[in-house]
Amino acid sequence: MAKTRPPRTATPEIYADIYKMFMAPVSAFDCGAKCGEHNNGAPICCSTEAAIPIVDKHEWKLLKKRTDLWHEYKAPDKATEKELSDLHHDCVAIECKGFMSCERENRSMSCRTFPFFPYIDREGDFLGMSVFWGFEDRCWVQSHLQIVNLRFLTEFVAAYEMLFQVDRDEFTANRDHSASMRRVFTRHDRPIPLLGRDGHLYKVTPTTHEIKTARFHEFGRWGFYEKDKPAEPAKHWATLDPNSLKGLTRASR
Ligand code: SF4
Ligand code: SF4
Repeated sequence: MAKTRPPRTATPEIYADIYKMFMAPVSAFDCGAKCGEHNNGAPICCSTEAAIPIVDKHEWKLLKKRTDLWHEYKAPDKATEKELSDLHHDCVAIECKGFMSCERENRSMSCRTFPFFPYIDREGDFLGMSVFWGFEDRCWVQSHLQIVNLRFLTEFVAAYEMLFQVDRDEFTANRDHSASMRRVFTRHDRPIPLLGRDGHLYKVTPTTHEIKTARFHEFGRWGFYEKDKPAEPAKHWATLDPNSLKGLTRASR
């Protein structure tokens, strides 16, 4: 009798399991209220003018079955159409009804994980989370990384472990994105922030790939938030990695 092969891509059932497990918000703060002040009240990552959610076709199948919150995204102009034409054939660009209609349990993976992606080193090890740096001038969280809750970090890592086990393309895309981040940060001579899967804060030197423990204030504040005072850190940093908080208050003076 033929054996059943394990799936080579994440099925809708796997996405359903991930959705069930990965519900933690990034922090105790409503970060959408912070960035929304600069976007007519709407969280920046919930506006397709800023970020278009992309889902895998199996995730799309699941979402369509669960809710009518989402529809396929229609590019408003030729430039966006061209940008989307490079999408992997398994991916779909989608749009929700807007932040006033958000359904927490029916958020896509990209909603749940933003502004983070899984950082993978050149040896292919998944080390923790880093940021979608292209949004650092608008995304409040990226200027206040100390607000990230341990529960979010733990669920994020578990979600990607589940995905990577079955979806090689997802792993490759994130490994390539990590390499691209190293190239960009080399050009800008900046350390890469890494919220390690062990709950500690690190910095990656992009030229040498060296990883050292870090302090939040080393990553600076950006764009709208350049002059912000540091937000209150999540509790776990004070117990697990107190060194990471040193200099945070001083940095704002
Ligand atoms: S993750 Fe960033 S862009 Fe999204 S709502 Fe929070 S602060 Fe705004
Ligand atoms: S589903 Fe919710 S979190 Fe996701 S883009 Fe829409 S409003 Fe934002």
